[in-house]
Amino acid sequence: MYRQTIPTTARAAIIALIKALQTGDITACRHLPSSTSPAYWAMWARTVMVCRACLPMLALTGEEDSRCDHCREIVPMIHLEQAGTEGLVILHGACPGCEGIPEMRTA
Ligand SMILES: [Zn+2]
Ligand SMILES: [Zn+2]
Repeated sequence: MYRQTIPTTARAAIIALIKALQTGDITACRHLPSSTSPAYWAMWARTVMVCRACLPMLALTGEEDSRCDHCREIVPMIHLEQAGTEGLVILHGACPGCEGIPEMRTA
């Protein structure tokens, strides 16, 4: 079942990826071209796309690990969300205020 709408946070993450692709700023890890792993891209690490084994490369430390990718606030509890498909996983962190807000229906 396809949902009619996606959360605004997922939409923002997808748009961020499209922008990064347009500017040509993304470097893939050396495994991706021959890997069967999905490609992972994170909103907080816009310049790299990695395989599952390289996911630790995306890890953040300290305050940055608690920063919302949407409102840029640092919060005590950040929720890791995923958008994308089986082959491409788009990761983004959302604070309780931004998390999963359904997109307004226009119809
Ligand atoms: Zn890799
Ligand atoms: Zn937020």
